[in-house]
Amino acid sequence: MVSTVIRIARASTRSTICRLSTFTTAALMFGLLQVANAAMPAVPNAAHDSGGLEPIYHSGLPMPLPRPDIALAYAAIPIEVTPPVRRPSIEDILPRSTATLGQMIEQQTGLESSGESTFELRSGEGVAKLLRRAGYSEPDIATSITAMATKTSLRTLPIGLKFTVSENGFVFSHKVGRDIYTLRDPDAGWLALTTIRPVDSYLTFAHGVIENSIYQAAAESAVPDNALLEYIRIMGFSVDFQREVQPGDAFEMLYERKIDLISGEEIDTRLHYAGLRLSGNQLGFYRFAKDGKGVGWFDKNGNSAARTLIRTPIAGARLSSSFGMRRHPISGYNAMHRGVDFSAPTGTPIIAAGSGTIKKAGWLGSYGRYVQIKHNSTYSTAYAHMSRIAAGIRPGIRVKQGQIIGYVGSSGRSTGPHLHYEILVNNRRVNPLTVSLPTGEKIDPSLLDIFRRKVALVDNEVMANGALRYVANDLTLLNE
Ligand SMILES: [Zn+2]
Repeated sequence: MVSTVIRIARASTRSTICRLSTFTTAALMFGLLQVANAAMPAVPNAAHDSGGLEPIYHSGLPMPLPRPDIALAYAAIPIEVTPPVRRPSIEDILPRSTATLGQMIEQQTGLESSGESTFELRSGEGVAKLLRRAGYSEPDIATSITAMATKTSLRTLPIGLKFTVSENGFVFSHKVGRDIYTLRDPDAGWLALTTIRPVDSYLTFAHGVIENSIYQAAAESAVPDNALLEYIRIMGFSVDFQREVQPGDAFEMLYERKIDLISGEEIDTRLHYAGLRLSGNQLGFYRFAKDGKGVGWFDKNGNSAARTLIRTPIAGARLSSSFGMRRHPISGYNAMHRGVDFSAPTGTPIIAAGSGTIKKAGWLGSYGRYVQIKHNSTYSTAYAHMSRIAAGIRPGIRVKQGQIIGYVGSSGRSTGPHLHYEILVNNRRVNPLTVSLPTGEKIDPSLLDIFRRKVALVDNEVMANGALRYVANDLTLLNE
């Protein structure tokens, strides 16, 4: 296992000038100038406002003719257009949090401060009661809370919220990355201000050989839990980790960690790339926000990682009988088995392999308790031998991918608790483990250029692994 920690940028400490220059460097590196310009407010197109030189066709009431534009008289004089300066971001406006309350008091008011203590907001307690416990006088409590209430709603503060209090001020944080300070002002009474907690981002590339399980391999490389869960969810559409992963296969993950520099705590982890090498076959998926709406995962050609159907609609099961000719366990004759069997304890939940409409839900001869879901005009799935069909599952209702539709049992012609699972393509039963399944939506063609730049950026990081270095490029593309 090799893990590379790459320091990215002290996003919160960069000044505006520094930010712009970094942006320009990244823009040159990745040919982003077009994108940068597009993001700025459009400069009016002088040629378009040409005073009615274009023909106008009317089908209704006549429109008034445009009046001559006085500016057109200057059309022949070349002018230089200065694009508007980017608005400073919130990080440049709000002051930064300090390591101690005393430093902020001194910085903002010039007062000295000593003796900081921590108080937790108790159940049924307001800030006033907490400050009374901290020894504040009634006039101080009233005016400090009035100042504080300009920065946050007092009703949204959760029980257990920690306040650091000294005689000349107090501070708390109830939003990630933000602090609210309320300070005694020697001139104006009390004042309150919101500040930004300094955060560092690190890109970490982790890869390793899977000896036993992906869970164990990832644990050995100290991959954070939520990055691993995201990884398994994405790969789960293409790979069955219990059956398809062989010793010697390898995983790759590129993830970003955000560290609060004052508390040292990790405040966010985000997976950007999920890769898997399966006996020579390479899978790789990239995180991408589709036109600002939800986040999706796509291969480098822009195909969604998500499949319309899940190959294994049951958790923690063991494949007990595969698709094809076999000696039937009850009749003893050789027969074609047109599904796969997953052996699991009675009562194990069975989920819908994809979204769709319930076609059948009830007893069906040797299938026992049986559910069939129609996903679209081509694909259906069927689930047999259930001990129980889930409440509300009946013909005609819509189900979502992952919704529980029933529970493992041994009803019908069965020798023990298992799920018999079928995928039907145009009503023909096919092998669920090998059938090629349709993917979800592709990336919109208009976003492919931006997506490809993200792929190049991630691939550079993945290829450069092993070399500890400062990442010069801006993370604009990573942080959609
Ligand atoms: Zn079966």
